[in-house]
Amino acid sequence: MVGALADSERKVFWLDSPAAPEPLPPLEGPERCALAVVGGGFTGLWAALLAAEAGEQVVLLEGDRCGWGASGRNGGFLEASLTHGLENGLARWPDEIDRLIAIGRANFAAIRETLERRDIDAAWDESGLIDVATRPHEVSWLAEAAEAARAHGEDVVLLDRDAIRAEVDSPTYLAGLWHRGESALVDPARLAWGLRRAAHEEGAHIFERSPVRRLRRDGNRVKLETDEGSLRADRVVLATNAYPPLVRSVRRYVIPVYDYVLVTEPLGAERRAAIGWRRRQGLADSGNRFHYYRLTPDDRILWGAYEAIYHFRNGMHQRLEEHAPTFELLARNFARTFPQLEGIRFTHRWAGAIDTCSRFCVTFGRALGGRAVSAVGYTGLGVGASRFGARVALDLVHRRETELTRLALVRTRPVPFPPEPLRYAAVQATRRALARADERGGRRGAWLQLLDRIGAGFDS
Ligand SMILES: Cc1cc2nc3c(=O)[nH]c(=O)nc-3n(C[C@H](O)[C@H](O)[C@H](O)COP(=O)(O)OP(=O)(O)OC[C@H]3O[C@@H](n4cnc5c(N)ncnc54)[C@H](O)[C@@H]3O)c2cc1C
Repeated sequence: MVGALADSERKVFWLDSPAAPEPLPPLEGPERCALAVVGGGFTGLWAALLAAEAGEQVVLLEGDRCGWGASGRNGGFLEASLTHGLENGLARWPDEIDRLIAIGRANFAAIRETLERRDIDAAWDESGLIDVATRPHEVSWLAEAAEAARAHGEDVVLLDRDAIRAEVDSPTYLAGLWHRGESALVDPARLAWGLRRAAHEEGAHIFERSPVRRLRRDGNRVKLETDEGSLRADRVVLATNAYPPLVRSVRRYVIPVYDYVLVTEPLGAERRAAIGWRRRQGLADSGNRFHYYRLTPDDRILWGAYEAIYHFRNGMHQRLEEHAPTFELLARNFARTFPQLEGIRFTHRWAGAIDTCSRFCVTFGRALGGRAVSAVGYTGLGVGASRFGARVALDLVHRRETELTRLALVRTRPVPFPPEPLRYAAVQATRRALARADERGGRRGAWLQLLDRIGAGFDS
């Protein structure tokens, strides 16, 4: 690693914190419970908390530490959208989009209410989000997005070149769209640790370092086996995100795609003044290949995404989290965006796997005769939507017919990914086509048009 990256450590900034709680012991010996939850990220933690609040006897099994997966590694953009943005929701569920928006807003409000009630300090900040245009064709995209957002009751402000640069000063900006409501920036690790404490206080039993190796039917129940113990449960919620799934059906719908993140040293007053950013909004580019970035509570810049890397046969391994060319590309793009910060050093670099599915938002599956239900596939927008995913999974696993389980979003499944080696070839072709579209005024070539027609695609 060279230049600005030379002193960076491969560590997740959020997890590298004195607030990290002590580990909980692993599962040992046989146990029994009404509801088992596998995975201690946001989906699993919300499922455990909501079920325990409803009086259920819950056991959560986490393979590593709660919040160690995507939930502790993300950008901390907590959005109300359940559909990976309005445009995707409108394209896929035009008839129910207004209901999905209303449910998403209620979900967002309920997260805020839970944090207040449970005294969870996740550095919640509602400064809003700005989409920025850095290529001429993206300026008209933002104008169209503003119109659609207003038509669906969103509080948005279109910013011209001077107005966006008055908010945050980058020579690359041509325009911006500021979404002023229904999103928060959070410290995701503290959110996960707070939910873990709340679930525990509510009576859920949480075991860490307890990877479930096998899941099988056991009479009327399900048996979950870990290295040192076993658990018999009446019902199971599977919240394992991009990790190798315990049930086969998930494998067709979700692929792990690595996303890379850098964090700078604290800016200090002089550098802060050089870029403005007084209102601390979260930012994202509007292109197909985009960066998301934000200030951390201690005034560093978190800078992520752009490259999304898929490895053959759903490859996942800690060594894949190191990818020098991608970190270097991210550092170069950062320098182009903020030339006035020349000389700044990055302190942290890391990667996390995104549970990508072809419709870009959560999808639900049943296994073992409906005794196990999975909620996966958030595709990079699950910090807020995971509470919705957990609620739906609980309704489905208990066979409750509710407003949520009647949604087409819940009843339908995404277009599956093809088997290997076609899968790998299709993902690479899509990545190249998305990069080409960015360079060609946003025009989508034949491959992307075909994917659009069959309702499939690729995003991070
Ligand atoms: C780099 C990055 C940036 C992102 N940025 C954003 C963002 O800014 N905003 C946003 O909304 N979303 C973002 N996301 C997506 C978001 O983080 C996820 O959608 C969300 O955290 C999903 O939560 P989860 O609980 O479903 O998964 P996870 O947090 O991944 O939790 C799954 C857990 O299951 C455990 N597990 C897996 N298999 C087993 C097993 N067999 N036994 C026991 N435990 C098991 C894992 O150890 C893990 O802790 C980002 C993701 C990444 C990777």
